[in-house]
Amino acid sequence: MLQCYDCGKTYPEEKALWQCDCGSYLLYTTPELKLNKEKIQKGPFSLWRYQEVLPVSEEYRVTMGEGLTPLLPVTYEGREVFLKLDFLQPTGSYKDRGTSVLISKLKEWGVNRVAEDSSGNAGASMAAYCARAGIECEIFVPAYTSAGKLVQIQYYGADMVKVPGTREDTTLAAIRRAEEVFYASHNWSPYFIEGTKTLAFECWEQLEWQAPDAVIVPAGNGSLVLGLYKGFTELKEMGYINRLPRIIAVQAANCSPVYRAFHQGLDVVPAVKKQPTLAEGIASAAPVKGAYILEAIRESDGTVVIVQEEEIKRALLELGRLGVFVEPTSATVWAAWRALRQQEEWTAGQKIILELTGSGLKATDKLQELT
Ligand SMILES: *Cc1c(COP(=O)(O)O)cnc(C)c1O
Ligand SMILES: [Zn+2]
Repeated sequence: MLQCYDCGKTYPEEKALWQCDCGSYLLYTTPELKLNKEKIQKGPFSLWRYQEVLPVSEEYRVTMGEGLTPLLPVTYEGREVFLKLDFLQPTGSYKDRGTSVLISKLKEWGVNRVAEDSSGNAGASMAAYCARAGIECEIFVPAYTSAGKLVQIQYYGADMVKVPGTREDTTLAAIRRAEEVFYASHNWSPYFIEGTKTLAFECWEQLEWQAPDAVIVPAGNGSLVLGLYKGFTELKEMGYINRLPRIIAVQAANCSPVYRAFHQGLDVVPAVKKQPTLAEGIASAAPVKGAYILEAIRESDGTVVIVQEEEIKRALLELGRLGVFVEPTSATVWAAWRALRQQEEWTAGQKIILELTGSGLKATDKLQELT
């Protein structure tokens, strides 16, 4: 079942939808919460091992082995922390978790042409999975996007539509196109979060069936925050864990609407005016699911922190020296952990996971300028 976050209206799963009639966003309710550890371990070596709580049946699965990325313990200045190398996915970012599940659902619905707006990792991931699924794919990108960023999408064979104006104009153009083709937006679809929730299951499995104490994640439109919240909540409801790990969301100081709303005690996230940031992947001035993101962070006893551009640069270099090459957006979590370590009462035994979302190979131009 799908249910609107705002008005509560429900819709059957058989209907191809990305939005409620009232204009708000929909959430998916898992019909039966059961996960069997043995079945998981006997399942495929991908996120589809959690099939029992995923919203698409096996016959429609569109998969390239996404998920099951390494959880690497590292010791830095005497402290242990776990790095989730989630950029080691088929298209080089964590987005493949959400896209695999979303595109599988579209296949089940018999959708054969989609539109999406993104010049970055979501566009690349969508284009790749559409190629696998035989679905025609139109990716709307801002006209100012550099050619280097578009080349991966082009190789996957998507139709590229360049839109003059701002990033928001690009979204509007894609939504207008949605009158004719299905709008497969990763920011709107309830199914994308059904994919990202597997991050929670995986961390739990990799920690030998235990929840971590906290997960630090970058947050733009919040698909990781929400995926972790949904996944860990389901584990709690099944009795596998006693409490939710703290979800610590990281934003760039130059674009931090969730940070502001959270610390002002608001229930919705008002749009902000953004300044340029290295952390392009989280530069969302008006996240679609703002209220739900705030709920997730509060319910998990988490918080939102911001990092400065200089801290992002330093974090990139420090991670590099540990053998980990990520894009600037991903380095924000390392910067956040460095700062939080001083304040938080994180004792030696605490298990803290840093979610590393995108490969450095995605941003070599930009990273080269920084060295
Ligand atoms: C998309 C993306 C994010 C942020 O995801 P949201 O769902 O917008 O919060 C973080 N890091 C990378 C590398 C991304 O591509
Ligand atoms: Zn509604």
